[in-house]
Amino acid sequence: MDSKPDYLLLYRYQEARRRLAACADELAGWEGKRVLADLEKQVQTVQEAVAAIRTECARLKTENRQLEGECRDYEVQLRDLEATLYSGKIAAPKELEQLQRRIAEYQTAKAAREEKLLDQLYMLETKERELAEAQEQAGALQSKLAAAAEEVARRVNSLRKNCAELQKEVEDLERALPESLLGFYQRSAKALKGIVVVPIKGKTCGFCHMILPPAVLEQVKKGGTGVTLCENCGRGLFEE
Ligand SMILES: [Zn+2]
Repeated sequence: MDSKPDYLLLYRYQEARRRLAACADELAGWEGKRVLADLEKQVQTVQEAVAAIRTECARLKTENRQLEGECRDYEVQLRDLEATLYSGKIAAPKELEQLQRRIAEYQTAKAAREEKLLDQLYMLETKERELAEAQEQAGALQSKLAAAAEEVARRVNSLRKNCAELQKEVEDLERALPESLLGFYQRSAKALKGIVVVPIKGKTCGFCHMILPPAVLEQVKKGGTGVTLCENCGRGLFEE
C-alpha cells in the first residue's frame, strides 16, 4: 500500500529526473558551442592574411634591394662614361655621339628603376601598415577565443558537476522508492512527458489546474487504493 510520503518521494524522484534532463540538455548545448568554431575560423582567416601580407612585404623588400643594386651599378657606369666623355681623349664625332647616346640610355634606365623603387617603397609602407593592423586583429581575436574557450570550459565543468549530483540524487531516490510506484512511473513517464504525479493545489490538479470533484479529493485523502488520477490530464494526484 502506498502512503503519502511515498508519493512525495516519487514526486521528488520525478523532479530530480526532470532537472537532470534539463541539465544534460544544457550541457550538450555548451559542449557543442558554435561560438568557438566560428572564432577559430576567424582566427585562422586573419592568420592566413597575416602570412600573405608578410610574404608580399618580403617580396617587395627583395625586389627593392635588387633595384637599389641596379641603380648603383648604373651610377658607376655613368660615372665611368662621363669621365671618358670629359677626358678629352675622344675626338671623333661619331665616337662622341655614340658615347652620348649610351649615357642617355643609362640615364633613362636608371631613372626608370628609381621611379619603380619609389613606387615600391610606397607600396611596402602601405603593406607594412596593413600587416600591423592584421597582426593586431589576430591578437584581439585570439584573446577573444581564449576568453570564450575559458567561459565554455567553466560552464561545461559546472554543468557536468550538476549533472553528476543530480544523477546521484535520482539514483538514491530510485533506490528508496517502493517498486509499485517506480513501476507506475516507468509505465507512464513517456506518455505523460516525464510528469506522472503532481501535488493538489487548492483543490485543483497541480498540472492542468482542473477543479477536482470532492469524490476525487476524498479518495486522495483516504489513499490506499493505488494512485488516484486526474480525470482530465491523467496525472497521479497527492497532497503535499
Ligand atoms: Zn490534471
